[in-house]
Amino acid sequence: MTVRVGVIGVGMIGQDHIRRLTRVLAGVEVVAVTDVDPARAADVAAGVPGVKVHGTGKDLIDDGAVDAVLVTSWGPTHEEYVLAGIAAGKPVFCEKPLATTRAACRRILDAESAFGRRLVMVGFMRRYDASYRALKAAVADDVLGAPLLVHCAHRNPSVPDIYSSDMAINDTAVHELDIVRWLLDDEIAAARVLQPRRNSRAAAHLVDPLVILLETAGGALVDVEVSVNIGYGYDIRCEVVAEGGTAALADNPGVIVRSGGRWGGAVPVDWRERFIRAYDSELQDWVDAVTAGSATGPTAWDGYAATVVADGCLEALRTGERVPISLGDRPSLYTRAVTS
Ligand code: NAP
Repeated sequence: MTVRVGVIGVGMIGQDHIRRLTRVLAGVEVVAVTDVDPARAADVAAGVPGVKVHGTGKDLIDDGAVDAVLVTSWGPTHEEYVLAGIAAGKPVFCEKPLATTRAACRRILDAESAFGRRLVMVGFMRRYDASYRALKAAVADDVLGAPLLVHCAHRNPSVPDIYSSDMAINDTAVHELDIVRWLLDDEIAAARVLQPRRNSRAAAHLVDPLVILLETAGGALVDVEVSVNIGYGYDIRCEVVAEGGTAALADNPGVIVRSGGRWGGAVPVDWRERFIRAYDSELQDWVDAVTAGSATGPTAWDGYAATVVADGCLEALRTGERVPISLGDRPSLYTRAVTS
């Protein structure tokens, strides 16, 4: 079977996923696209033989030739399309965020629970990164003992002028907010955000760097450094300190060059380079699950948790206070959600 996918929102990541679905992955074809900008949708469609352009996301979802839906439009539109996908009984891959508010995410949890089985996968691709998977395996290994601390760093070389301090949490640190839940198989229970001296390279409106301190329900502490004007490259770090040892992401595969009395290797230029294989694996896993009539990957509960924790971090950034975080009841559909 070839899974016939419709793509809603053909901006930067939508186009990259279309390239992936049409040229890299197996068992899938892109049959329909739509975008709020019809000219952009037509442009993108021109590069994909046989693809149909729909006027709205709803029309695309209702198209009988579309088996499964990829939502890569602007975040505030995700709720509408994910709910419509569930109503149509079609599998939906939704780029993060699942939705931009706690209430909107809850509506999705309710709709999927009422449907009775999982249809939604959320695009937290780091869970498919080989280094993070090795780190999770090391943490799960009894040799290290219980995890106590996690040190994370998320460093970007630079950001555009429109980038805001809220985006440092909602768009940047949100990947750490998800990955630490997954690594520790634990939920986040409280957050603080600290602001060291500002990087003089940052725009005047920006808090950069910032440090997020998270407490998990199980008692671990997590610190996340977010530096978005660090210049030297895109650098993602994560070290778990456990009772009897530590485990950390190694530097990326590549070469170490020794020359002129120095040694060194390359740092990725951006997230696309760093996580390109993870995006491939994540979408292939989704396609394979759709083909098998099953579900996989980060759940709607994971998307909900990330939005709720990010909201807590935003409040902590605004108030400077420690903000307790409560996720509330987990619907039974998601009882094994964190480790999926
Ligand atoms: P983008 O380049 O702005 O693309 C979003 C596209 O959706 C644009 O073409 C936009 O059109 C279109 N759009 C907006 N409202 C729409 C609607 N109602 N119906 C259909 N299309 C609509 O943004 P992006 O960087 O690709 O990001 C898209 C989503 O992917 C975001 O939620 C982002 O957080 C997520 N993302 C995830 C990752 C990851 O690492 N997992 C990486 C990048 C992005 P206009 O430009 O005309 O508004």
